[in-house]
Amino acid sequence: MEEATLVIIKPDGIKKSLTGNILSRLSEAKLKIMGSKMVKVSNDLAEKHYEHLRDKPFFSELIEYITGKVHDENRVMALVYYGEDAISKVRRIAGSTNPEEADPISIRGAYGRILTTGIFENVIHASSEAAEAEREIKLWFDPDEIVFDLYPCQIKDGRSEWK
Ligand code: ATP
Ligand code: MG
Repeated sequence: MEEATLVIIKPDGIKKSLTGNILSRLSEAKLKIMGSKMVKVSNDLAEKHYEHLRDKPFFSELIEYITGKVHDENRVMALVYYGEDAISKVRRIAGSTNPEEADPISIRGAYGRILTTGIFENVIHASSEAAEAEREIKLWFDPDEIVFDLYPCQIKDGRSEWK
């Protein structure tokens, strides 16, 4: 089934100048990039993105990581990939959540590490299932920023927004 997935190149990926390598690895999946942008991640965006982990002991460190405070690098790159089985294809290339357990040739296995604070510094985010992908894409992108009619939207005050 054709579907969309959200990829975030996290602050460690940007800081280590891995953007090109990561995009090359993801291009192996033969998916289409339908949206891409650099984002300065606010606390509000970070907390909404990771709201399912709010009760975890590492939540505050995770928010510091994704907002760039750990790496003194507040940019991330957000991308929407689209195509056949996009979610599982991208997850396979990304590798397991724990970079030490990830396949060494996956992005996380090759470039990730565990910080002394216990945070998994794992270079990229990739949506894990369809409902999560939709929620995340709508959180990170406005309809006009995706070159494809992915989900229903409406015009309000001259601007398009997700329905
Ligand atoms: P992501 O959502 O970033 O793609 P994921 O879906 O593989 O990762 P989640 O369970 O959604 O894993 O966790 C989100 C992020 O929280 C991870 O990418 C990692 O940075 C951090 N994290 C998850 N589990 C742990 C853990 N047990 N210890 C430390 N950090 C963790
Ligand atoms: Mg996740």
